[in-house]
Amino acid sequence: MSSIYKYLISMFILVTAVAACSTTPTGRAQLTLKSEAILAQEGARQMQIIREQAPLVQDRATIDYVACVADAIVGVLEDKDAAMYWEMAIVNQPDVNAFVMPGGKIVVKAGILSVAQNQHQLAAVIGHEVAHVTAHHANERASRGELTNYGVEVLAYILGGGYYNQTAGAYSALSTASTLGLSNPFSRMQESEADIIGLQYMAKAGFDPRESVTLWKNMNAKSETKIPEFMSTHPSGETRIDSLIEQYSTVLPMYNEAKAAGRNPNCTR
Ligand SMILES: [Zn+2]
Repeated sequence: MSSIYKYLISMFILVTAVAACSTTPTGRAQLTLKSEAILAQEGARQMQIIREQAPLVQDRATIDYVACVADAIVGVLEDKDAAMYWEMAIVNQPDVNAFVMPGGKIVVKAGILSVAQNQHQLAAVIGHEVAHVTAHHANERASRGELTNYGVEVLAYILGGGYYNQTAGAYSALSTASTLGLSNPFSRMQESEADIIGLQYMAKAGFDPRESVTLWKNMNAKSETKIPEFMSTHPSGETRIDSLIEQYSTVLPMYNEAKAAGRNPNCTR
């Protein structure tokens, strides 16, 4: 092969690699090989299935309450993140869980409301989940998986190739969707990143970021009887609480600024 071809090929590889890089809201460089548009399309498709097949909460007060918190969080997003078509569904199941799907599809299970006891704590949950979307964690996970050759399967799972059966009931739709929502195998690194970004979102929206610690304490207390699903996919413990507290010096000023600017959400049931 002539050297010019070698040069062109190496340039091509370089350009491809650069194009596949993005940064998360914390400024961390990441490898995102998948098309965000395709992931978002799949998120929208799964959301549609949930809307059609899952038992949704009908109670207006609950819907308004969760939507009020979600609206406030999404309201602080900027640019591409703000331009996403954010949607929410509240599933009438007692599981203590919430997840998001690419493209901005938030799914909250009613059980989370027994642990997230006020608007601030619910904002901590939603802020964290929204952060998984804005930090392209789904894409990153799929991309990393593919690099280790495990990705074909991961991607098939994410894109629903053969795993989702149209005739399956709501429960199996939900378990596929929650895999797509990637509540499960997020890495520790992605989890702490979502915590940090989520705290910033909630603070900027005018929710007290210190309530995130109370939320995790509630989770811990609950786990003495039954480990909440959200906790099993979001490993907790003192480390997590300590890292949240470490963020106070950054997020409390944001919170105070939001309040001074008149952002005082008043979401109640
Ligand atoms: Zn998470």
